[in-house]
Amino acid sequence: MASNGPMILCDGLVKIYKVQDLEMVALGGLDLVVERGEFMAIIGPSGSGKSTLMNILGGLDRPSAGKAVVDGQDLLKLSTVALTKYRREKVGFVWQQPSRNLIPYLTVNENVQLPMIVAGLGPKEREDWAQQLLEAVGLWSRRHHALAQLSGGEQQRTAIAVGLANKPVLLLADEPTGEVDTVTAQAIIDTLRTLSEEFGLTVVMVTHDVRASNQVDRVVTIRDGRTSSERVRRLQAGGEDADAPSGEGEPLQDDANGQAGRSISADPAAAFHEYVVLDSAGRLQVPREFLEALGISDRAQIDLTDEGILIRPAMGLSDTTAQAARAAEAAESWARPGRSRDLRLQVAGARRNLRRLLGRGDQADQTKDIT
Ligand code: ADP
Ligand code: MG
Repeated sequence: MASNGPMILCDGLVKIYKVQDLEMVALGGLDLVVERGEFMAIIGPSGSGKSTLMNILGGLDRPSAGKAVVDGQDLLKLSTVALTKYRREKVGFVWQQPSRNLIPYLTVNENVQLPMIVAGLGPKEREDWAQQLLEAVGLWSRRHHALAQLSGGEQQRTAIAVGLANKPVLLLADEPTGEVDTVTAQAIIDTLRTLSEEFGLTVVMVTHDVRASNQVDRVVTIRDGRTSSERVRRLQAGGEDADAPSGEGEPLQDDANGQAGRSISADPAAAFHEYVVLDSAGRLQVPREFLEALGISDRAQIDLTDEGILIRPAMGLSDTTAQAARAAEAAESWARPGRSRDLRLQVAGARRNLRRLLGRGDQADQTKDIT
């Protein structure tokens, strides 16, 4: 039941867990579109709903409301039987602990072939596909090894091969580099990228590893169960990404196969566009740091300017100057060294604007009170 739409479409996705009498909103209306063949990462603070999203996309958990369509299948509408079939046929999983995918007393090759036996594949088909997979993850020479003879990274690469044994269209990896050192993490990311390119696989990876998140096409940030911002890799002008400013884009590198591959920039800030995500009602999440920096709490003033949309502290009729002064003070104390340079520059700009506002305090007093 393949379709031509995106691989993943979540629209206002809600997941509520009931714990005794309490309702816990793990996903509070999450929007996400993942195109076919994308290699993308999801980041976000602990408890923001990343694993909940992965479990729903993997058919391990049921959404409470909203929309979750994967490869044309509406996960809210699938029967239990259909959901089990979906889980077995459409998705592959890679977990933080490789052991969740592996059986310790079987060899590498046996582990990879086991799901194929369950799926009813013949011996020849199994051997061919296991060989392709083990070559792709770089473990063909170790196929007869017992799992205990493998390093952590090799075990995780075996787990990736096992996750792909049923030829899924979507690979979900929840913190796959969470328990390994940097070098091993790199090998795991490289493996995932190779698989994505070689098999046209869509890969969604949850990670808190900044290096890992800098090596994907797109990074989506989840906060409080909603998508809040996203970074998209810039391609050089003339490439696919038309709005990348020329000269600033990162050149495409040729990889070992002579193909234009995804290159890794030493300066991630230069390699990504950062976007804030809007939902269908036009709501967006303003980064908490920005709100703190300007002393904005539950109300803000929003204006359309030549530069774009300006969000600034709400100015009441009587207390305009006092509020602006408080905001400038908050910005002053906030913009201390140790914050990222990018944020400090942005706050410095906001501070300049606030000073201008302070200078115009009397004028603003005559405007209508919107708070
Ligand atoms: P993340 O993976 O981003 O750390 P999770 O998706 O695991 O976050 O959790 C999101 C929120 O939902 C957390 O507050 C967590 O406590 C809650 N949660 C997750 N799974 C369950 C569950 N099975 N029952 C109750 N609450 C849960
Ligand atoms: Mg998690």
